[in-house]
Formats: sequence, structure tokens, C-alpha cells
Amino acid sequence: MASAKPTHKRYRNLIGDRWAPARTHHTFENRNPANTSDLIGVFPASGAMDVADAVAAAKMAFHSWRLVPAPKRAEVLFRAGELLAARKERYAHDMTREMGKVLVESRGDVQEAIDTAFYMAGEGRRLFGQTTQSELPNKFAMSTRMPVGVCGMITPWNFPMAIPSWKLLPALVCGNTCVIKPAEDAPLSTLHLVETLLDAGLPKGVVNIVFGFGPEAGGPLGEHPDLDAISFTGSSETGRKVGQNAAAGLKPCSLEMGGKNAMIVMDDANLELAVEGALWGAFGTTGQRCTATSRILLHREIAVAFTRQLVEKAKKLRVGDGLKKNTQLGPQINGQHIATSERYVQIALAEGAKLLTGGKRLHGKAYATGHFFAPTIFSGVTPAMRIAQEEVFGPVVSLLEFDSFEQAIAIANGVSYGLSASIYTRDVNRGYRAMRDLEAGIVYINAPTIGAEVHLPFGGVKQTGNGHREGGNAALDFYSSWKSIYVDYSDRLQRAQID
Ligand code: ADP
Repeated sequence: MASAKPTHKRYRNLIGDRWAPARTHHTFENRNPANTSDLIGVFPASGAMDVADAVAAAKMAFHSWRLVPAPKRAEVLFRAGELLAARKERYAHDMTREMGKVLVESRGDVQEAIDTAFYMAGEGRRLFGQTTQSELPNKFAMSTRMPVGVCGMITPWNFPMAIPSWKLLPALVCGNTCVIKPAEDAPLSTLHLVETLLDAGLPKGVVNIVFGFGPEAGGPLGEHPDLDAISFTGSSETGRKVGQNAAAGLKPCSLEMGGKNAMIVMDDANLELAVEGALWGAFGTTGQRCTATSRILLHREIAVAFTRQLVEKAKKLRVGDGLKKNTQLGPQINGQHIATSERYVQIALAEGAKLLTGGKRLHGKAYATGHFFAPTIFSGVTPAMRIAQEEVFGPVVSLLEFDSFEQAIAIANGVSYGLSASIYTRDVNRGYRAMRDLEAGIVYINAPTIGAEVHLPFGGVKQTGNGHREGGNAALDFYSSWKSIYVDYSDRLQRAQID
């Protein structure tokens, strides 16, 4: 039986048509990283049984949802886009409260879900396949996109509405049903997206949400035999596990993981623009984006001038509660991530890098109740150092120097990741060579490494992922499977390649 939606701060899983507590009877708290005394809500800490219930509900709902015409499925998404737009301010506020990023960025996160909703709603009337000629007479050939089935989704906390929307919305328009396990650090924003879909008319059971921790809830979801596909965004370590499980079950699996994104600043660059871009790329979202600018490669001619300006400006960045109007940098998500930033500062110092600013957790009254880390810049970094190779996922950026364009490209490419890269130059030839030669899924010219738009493919090469893309119609390739159909109207047996 359907039970009433909770109105208080105790949240439940959505399983089929029921809002249910975890069968484990365990819960966890969602607290504000800028002020840990601010309790946002208590969520179910689910286990394998809850996951199994959710997958069963999604499996059941698939029978009817797959038969809803795609343009009708799309109408739900369109209405969800409209509802999200109407609720944007409230959802952005709650997102900053649970995740910490400044309000303008949370608005951007909600906007990404709105944009994706409208884009994917449009796909309801496209989802194009091909019709083509048959090699045999009186025979017709075409291909069409079919839903995959039940899709599992495991998502991170840094874009707690945008990333779930990149997965849920293409999956839904293609006719799949879903079970999503959002990150334990920012579960509310994903719930807001799911509630909006229900309010827009999505039938119960089509999307199921299971809250909980990685190993206890995410693990069983990734391993569930009834899933037809699994999509994951998060750390490389976890992604590898999810990928190995999927491979064992021969399941389609989309992994989007780390980055060590480089911005190249040539000697002919507009320096002021490059400094501004570096600040945004390195310290936007407190460096907690997989596309964050974490290496800045400076032509030796402009290195001193660029560094002086960057450090001057970084020192002036206002760190604090993202809900306060003047804040430019919010907290890190939790104490563990602060510890990671601290650890990398020690690693960089031990390697011989020079700390120009930051390098420590912020203390004092304004910071006492949250997880705040000072914007941190290292110079004298060389390509082989760990600080130049490993993802920090915090407000820590490394400056490296080079003498030639070729050397810059080699340094940019000399990491195991390949998500995003950028170059500042006014030389059009160099710009085009960089577009061709940078080993990254996303390349920016005269812009930092962040700022993807929803209608283009998003994802990376090398260890960043396993070759799939989110965003745009590239996402449809993961959430649908091709069916090739031959219609023979000759009334006789015709043998391909033989007759
Ligand atoms: P982060 O360290 O940035 O939180 P994670 O990769 O740990 O990155 O988290 C991304 C998502 O993966 C979260 O939803 C998290 O709960 C989930 N997760 C973590 N560990 C596992 C696991 N062993 N199996 C499946 N999911 C997991």
C-alpha cells in the first residue's frame, strides 16, 4: 500500500509505490558541511534486501513503461523540467546546505537538470534509428533503439542533482526503469529530482531510490543479477570495483571517474583572462569537480607574472558558508576529504614543491563548525611528482613550467587520466593543434577545464572512464540497445550473402 510522503526530516527509500524505511533499521545523518550542527535530515542506511526490493520493483514497472510511447514518456520529462525551474531556488538552497558549494553554483547544478530534462524531452520525438536498403529484392531493413531494461545508477555528491539527471533522464526517455543510489553525503538533492519526476506524472516503480553507504547499498546494487546496465560516477577506486562486477555479469557498464586536468597558458595568452579562468577552474566548487583545473602549465616567459597575479587573487578569495552572499568558496564535503587535501600538501612539500599560499585547514570562529580548507597553490612542481599525477579533489592546484608548445602538450598528456584540458593562446594554429593533440574527452580553448554543456558528450579517455559518454545524444547509446529489423515481403526464402 502507498504510504504518505514524509513531511519531517526523516526520509525514506522509494521502492515501487512505497516510501519505506531501510529493512536494516539503520539510518544515517545528512549534515551541512559548512556547519555540522545543522542536521538536514535522517536517511535510511539501506542494505542488500532494500536494493533487491528496489530492483524487483523496477523490473515489474519495466513491463508497462517500455510500452509507453516515447513522446509520452518525454512529456513527463518536459513537465519535470518546468517543475524544476519553478522550484530552482528552493532546491538550490537545500543543495548548498547539504553539499556546501556556493548558491550560484547550486543554481547551476539545478539548471543542468532542467536543461537535461528539456533536451531529453526533445529526444522523445527523435530517438532516431536508420532505414536502409536491403541487398535482396522485396525486403526492407531498419534499425531502432530499444530500452535496455533495469538500469542501476550510483552517483557522487559533488553534482547531486545534475549527475543523477544525466543518468535518469536519458534512461527514462529510452523506456528503461531505474534504481538510483545517491551519495551518502548529499542524498536530498537526488531525492528532489526523483520527487519532481513523480509530481510530473512518472508512474511509481519506474524510478526507485535507495539511500545508503557505498559498500552496504552501492555494492549490492552493482552486483544485482537482475540489472541490465549499471552507470557509475565517482572515484577511480570504486569505479574499478563496479566495473569488475559488471564485467563478471557481462553487463553494460558506464564508468566516469577521475581527472588530473591541465590548463596550458602560452606566452601569447591574454594573461588576465587566463588568471581569471585559473581561479574559476581550480577553486570553483572548492576544486571538487572531476573536471577541476588541477595543473596549470605555464610558459616560462609568463610564469612569474601569471603566478604573482594568481596568488594575489587566490589569497583574496572569500571562503565560507555557501549560503552567504559574498562567499566565493564553500567548504569541502567532509573531514575525510579535508584530510586528503592535508595529506597531499605534505606529499607535495616532501617532493620539493613550493607552497605559495594556503596548504591548511582554516581555523577561527567563522570556520569552527565546518570543513574549510584554504585555496592552495604549489609552484616548482615537476611532471613526475605525485601532486602532478594524482587527483586531490580539493582546492589544491599545481603550477608547472614549460619552454615549448610540444613540451606543454607532452606534460598535459603525461598522466593516467584524460577527462578535460584547456589552452590559453591567441595563435589559431596552436589552438587547433591542441584540439587535436590533447588526450582528453573535453578540450577548451581560452577557457578553463570546467564548464561542460548538457547537449555535448561528457566523459574522458584513458583511466577516466571506460569509453562511454554522458550528455547529448551520446547518452542514448548507453541507455538503448540497437535492434536491426528485416522485413521480407517477397514471399519466398531469400538468403543474405548467398542468393
Ligand atoms: P567519494 O570518495 O568522492 O565519495 P566514491 O567513489 O566513494 O567517491 O563515491 C561515489 C559513489 O559510489 C557514492 O554513491 C558511494 O556511496 C558509492 N560507493 C562507494 N563505495 C562503493 C562500493 N564499494 N560499491 C558501490 N558503490 C560504492
